Amino acid sequence: MEPYYFMLPGFRVTPSKSLKSTHWMGGEPFHANAKCDVCKRPYGQLWCIDCSDPKIPALHQPDFSRLSLYFCWTCGNDFYYEIGDRKGFKFKGYASKREPSSDFPYTNYPKVFDRIPIGIQRIPYEVEKCALLVLGVMGEGFEDSLGMMKPWMTASDRRELSAYYGRDVESPLDMRSDQLGGLPYLIQGAETIACPSGCTQRMRVLATVYSNPKNGLPMLAPREHPEKNNPFAQVVFHICPSCYCIHAGNRCD
Ligand SMILES: [Zn+2]
Ligand SMILES: [Zn+2]
Repeated sequence: MEPYYFMLPGFRVTPSKSLKSTHWMGGEPFHANAKCDVCKRPYGQLWCIDCSDPKIPALHQPDFSRLSLYFCWTCGNDFYYEIGDRKGFKFKGYASKREPSSDFPYTNYPKVFDRIPIGIQRIPYEVEKCALLVLGVMGEGFEDSLGMMKPWMTASDRRELSAYYGRDVESPLDMRSDQLGGLPYLIQGAETIACPSGCTQRMRVLATVYSNPKNGLPMLAPREHPEKNNPFAQVVFHICPSCYCIHAGNRCD
């Protein structure tokens, strides 16, 4: 089977206090023509990653200097796109298509999310090794119990994972986080998505992004009502390892 991760190691993505960070979440789309053609709103720019960061050599390539991860929650459609410094944003089709809903995700939904600097921190080796084992072996959604994870995890592994993720890790669901690269937890398991650009590659998982009204992206609840958030919905991005076409889609439990 072909691997479905795009790059190792993976990185945890968190809001950064450093105004010098060259990565950010939110903000106006880096590509001026990145608009959803169903609802006509600008795509939500979830992250805008500086590909020249020496920590992420897998994203050093000649066509684009910044990687923008776009999604439209108003419509919620899975879609494909390409980006390039010269060609801008290029829509490559829908994998599914719905009409926009006027009141989703919430009233007065921001046209553009606030721009907030983010940092990318390498996932510690011991945590990633354990995550690769648990998620790579089990990888199939949230119903797996601690009992099933046990053969792959010692008590000290579990302590380490719990400390890292900030919650008791009792199932793969507890390993969810905003992640770039690596093998993130996928709420609906691994998927086989073929690149639509004719290169017949299986697309690789690139990032998982969650709604976080408190100090991240208020994708599913407004900042003033963080209790209305759904912490179990993720936007999953896949990338083609040959042509860098991107697939964006949301997955929920
Ligand atoms: Zn839309
Ligand atoms: Zn491709």
